[in-house]
Amino acid sequence: MTSMEIRRVLDALPLPVFAKAADHSWIYGNQAFADLIGLDDFIGRDDTTIFNEEQVDIFWREDDLVFGGETSTSFEEIGEGTFALTRKFPITLEDGKPGLIGLIIEAVASPEDLRKTRSDFKSAQAQSNLLLSQLQSRADGHARQYEQRLRNLERERETAQSLAHTDPLTKVRNRLGFQADLQSLSKRCDKMSGSFTLVFIDLDDFKHINDTFGHQMGDRVLCQVAERFNSLGPIFSVSRLGGDEFAVLLECGGQPTHEVKERLRGMADLVFRPVTDFKREVDASGSLGYTRYPFDTKNLSELKRYADLALMKAKKVGKGHIRKFEASDHSDDLRLRQLETGLRTAIDRQDISAVYQPIFDTSEGHIQGVEVLARWTHPALGVISPEEFIFIAGRLGLLVHVDQIVLKRACRELGPFIQSGSIEYFSVNASPSDVASLGYATNFLATLREYRIDPGTVLIEIIETAVMEKSRTARSNLEQLSAAGIRIALDDFGRGYANYRTLLDLPINVLKVDRSLISTITDRPHLIDFLVSIIHMAKALGASTVCEGIETEEEKILAETLGFDALQGFLISRPVGLARLRTAIELNGEEQALVEQQRRTG
Ligand code: C2E
Ligand code: MG
Ligand code: MG
Repeated sequence: MTSMEIRRVLDALPLPVFAKAADHSWIYGNQAFADLIGLDDFIGRDDTTIFNEEQVDIFWREDDLVFGGETSTSFEEIGEGTFALTRKFPITLEDGKPGLIGLIIEAVASPEDLRKTRSDFKSAQAQSNLLLSQLQSRADGHARQYEQRLRNLERERETAQSLAHTDPLTKVRNRLGFQADLQSLSKRCDKMSGSFTLVFIDLDDFKHINDTFGHQMGDRVLCQVAERFNSLGPIFSVSRLGGDEFAVLLECGGQPTHEVKERLRGMADLVFRPVTDFKREVDASGSLGYTRYPFDTKNLSELKRYADLALMKAKKVGKGHIRKFEASDHSDDLRLRQLETGLRTAIDRQDISAVYQPIFDTSEGHIQGVEVLARWTHPALGVISPEEFIFIAGRLGLLVHVDQIVLKRACRELGPFIQSGSIEYFSVNASPSDVASLGYATNFLATLREYRIDPGTVLIEIIETAVMEKSRTARSNLEQLSAAGIRIALDDFGRGYANYRTLLDLPINVLKVDRSLISTITDRPHLIDFLVSIIHMAKALGASTVCEGIETEEEKILAETLGFDALQGFLISRPVGLARLRTAIELNGEEQALVEQQRRTG
């Protein structure tokens, strides 16, 4: 092929092709190249004709590499806004000097198109950058919001937990908080081979403080005691377990027991000092029972039971006593366990019996009603006092069942007396926990329906504390019962801190005045006025009155003279079984007939 023919081939190529001599001058360019640079007479000229200095510099440095024998590929701006992908190959020219052939592989669009593309690209880039940053900031915002919500949730959870673990009155831990602390402390001690002391505390004569100085003072004592314990220094936690019972968890490393006891004595001396309000001063004292983890036991339920036993023993000794759990206490523990299991079984088998104590109508001179009292005999331990087993049943949360069994028994055994008109009503005791439990009223009424007992012939005896907590459930239970026709009696009135408000607020039909009032009247004659005023108040409220604990003829005469509507006590009758009750009621009728006859015959 001649050089002319080669030129023609190259000229026919749609891609721009050019050749340069070693001084960078163009020695060849095809038509496409001429079109591209917009010059026809470029031969002998060089890049400086059309490109600026900077571009020329770039091109020539590249040319020099190619003159040295390398091949290059570049993507360079070859005009304002015009780009070219160029490959350059080395050649040796006829004079033996180096030269190059350039091939512009990527034919570029017109400069306008490219500019447009570039500006489109730039604006697209700007837009996408904006979008990206918007997305970023939105994502950041979401992340921040999410984090905030998580933090809030965490805080709410913490508050809820601390509320759930705090005693609202004294602000120390409550039973739940105590349980949590006990568990975490035992875990900690296990890990670090440590030890701790569990102390149960019971205030001495707290009931007396409440009764004598009122509940506000009682609350003040509780708060002060809690606060004083709390400010004592290295104590793991202080909790109020309920009522006047507290628990303290004390870390004590390897301290020997006698040192722990000294430490507790020191603590008790600081805590149990008088409590004052504006004008009064109350002695606060408390008994302590304690046990040591892990020396006494590693079982936490056992540990609590041991501290409880130690406390019970401490209280038996007298006020302000501190006592450690001893191995010999196991036998007492055994009795308690026996009672607990025995009671569970008895409840399961409905093996709780009832005795009946007549209530005497002072104006009619006959038995008007009967109080139902629970009785339980343990198969091995014998007769257990109601106070003891009712307390245990309460602790086990089983009192509702005891009362339900007693109610059924009363319905079964006393129903016939009511239906025959021999007595007007029977009266059952309800513990505060009964009254405050959901469904109590509904279940009670269902039992009466089951035995076809008219609610108008039933009385429920409650004590003030049942309603003092202002439990909504307690109130609604009482209202439901009252609406169904059941009468409500306030039991043991005058024994506690008589809250007259209770009488105004609740549907109380009967006031049972505590035995302690009538039995001490000879020593405290001013009580006569007090009793008279109670009777007046009850009358004003439309409630009838029963005087409890009549043991002597003198007491009976006094109570009648004062104007009590009814009397109850050993003088009239002790609580008796069904057979003796039947006799008493039959006799009652006869006595009545006798009285009637005497009246008629003058
Ligand atoms: P309470 O409801 O005030 O019952 C009267 C208590 O006083 C009875 O004691 C009765 O035996 C006793 N009593 C009656 N007359 C006299 C008297 O003239 N002199 C003396 N010294 N005592 C008299 P009990 O049966 O030991 O019951 C004690 C308490 O146990 C009851 O006091 C009541 O609060 C509670 N209780 C008894 N049965 C039940 C029950 O079925 N359910 C509930 N929740 N509590 C009950
Ligand atoms: Mg009673
Ligand atoms: Mg009573």
